[in-house]
Amino acid sequence: MPTSKGLVFDIKRFAVHDGDGLRTTVFLKGCSLRCLWCQNPEGLKSQKQGVYFKKKCIHCKICSQFDNIRYEKGRPWFMDDLPDEAIEACPSGAIMYDAKWYDVDQLMEQIKKDEVFFRYGGGVTFSGGEPFLQFEFLKKMLIACKKAGYHTAIESSFYTNLEQVKEIVPYLDRIYCDMKVFDEKKHEQYTGVSNEKIKQNIVYLLQSEHKEKVIVRTPLIPNLTGTKRNVEQIAKFLFGLYEDVRYELLNYNPLALSKYAMYDEFEYLLKETKPFTKEEMQQFRQIANKAGIKNIVME
Ligand code: SF4
Repeated sequence: MPTSKGLVFDIKRFAVHDGDGLRTTVFLKGCSLRCLWCQNPEGLKSQKQGVYFKKKCIHCKICSQFDNIRYEKGRPWFMDDLPDEAIEACPSGAIMYDAKWYDVDQLMEQIKKDEVFFRYGGGVTFSGGEPFLQFEFLKKMLIACKKAGYHTAIESSFYTNLEQVKEIVPYLDRIYCDMKVFDEKKHEQYTGVSNEKIKQNIVYLLQSEHKEKVIVRTPLIPNLTGTKRNVEQIAKFLFGLYEDVRYELLNYNPLALSKYAMYDEFEYLLKETKPFTKEEMQQFRQIANKAGIKNIVME
């Protein structure tokens, strides 16, 4: 992956859940984790992927004339290297790539369109996938955003090296850091990786001069991360590091299902899982409170 360019799978404008004020959120492609509940399957692979939108397809079969595409069982099938000519030839926009390369100037040009909102407390958020996977590009973008006077934020699993965290934190005004599962074996089972590096980075963040910028988040997935024991263990760990820590409890959001329909290679396994009720969310709040945490963020 070239470091002078970044592979972006979405630029969300006027986002209200990705930081202070109205945000422009840039989603960088590629992630080392494979969380069972992933809400952004388009962010998982580090390469551009061809995607198919069944509802848009008018079944004209024009695409099947191009290399790497075969039309079977009432739809086109293709590899990741979807020919550009086939995308252009599709009359209904039913096939396309899920991401685009930008250099710093090109992406800043896109961000600048929303500049007016940044004057009223908004800013730019880098999300993913896992933004640290495109570290060099991320750093260049953060430097460019600070130079332009923009408020900056990151949403990350912090599954990365401590050196990279230390290098990037001075350019961030807000840091959203996931702590999904406290138990190391379960973390590996649910996300595909150990949480050792993540814990190490949280220890650094919450004991550094940047601790006030940090909000630690736990997505509460029924029977996985959303258990009393997990919330209690995480809350105790965080409170032990910084008594004024801000801790956000996020209810499960089942909206990702439709996104999985675009990808043949990923399957969503939590189809039957329902979000927690308000009462259940309050119980999680009480558990975190009991562990000492005063600053609990919940919708
Ligand atoms: S060219 Fe587009 S609309 Fe026609 S069959 Fe292929 S994907 Fe469907």
